[in-house]
Amino acid sequence: MIKKRYILNFPPQSGDKPLSYHLVKDYDIRINILKAEVFPGKRGSLLLELHGKKENIEKGVEYLIAHHITCEPLDKRIRFQEEKCIDCGNCTAVCFAGALTMDPKTRELNFDKNKCVVCELCITACPLKLFEIDFR
Ligand code: SF4
Ligand code: SF4
Repeated sequence: MIKKRYILNFPPQSGDKPLSYHLVKDYDIRINILKAEVFPGKRGSLLLELHGKKENIEKGVEYLIAHHITCEPLDKRIRFQEEKCIDCGNCTAVCFAGALTMDPKTRELNFDKNKCVVCELCITACPLKLFEIDFR
């Protein structure tokens, strides 16, 4: 048995119920939803921890991808060129994990690496391209 974390992004027509049902029933995977942002009629994002046999998790991930759900393993991290930031706040609007926030007093950007789930949404949100993927 292993544990792996994934970020899932799914299209508006998807729902998390059938998804969870198939992972549990067909692949004997235990699911722990660590973070969820699902809005009816819009794109949704989930941070999941999957617990099960390695081969079952791989099959479960294949199932998700076959159903047009992007499934990113959390084995990467975000690199941020903090010194070039102009504190415009654009990136905070897409950071559903709450890793990027504006300090209400100083109006400066705060980046909490421990909350980052490497969804990569800030990469395109930053007009100065200050975020990039750091492959370990
Ligand atoms: S990758 Fe960027 S947007 Fe996604 S959680 Fe990390 S800091 Fe936030
Ligand atoms: S979008 Fe880029 S420049 Fe703006 S606050 Fe975020 S990191 Fe700084």
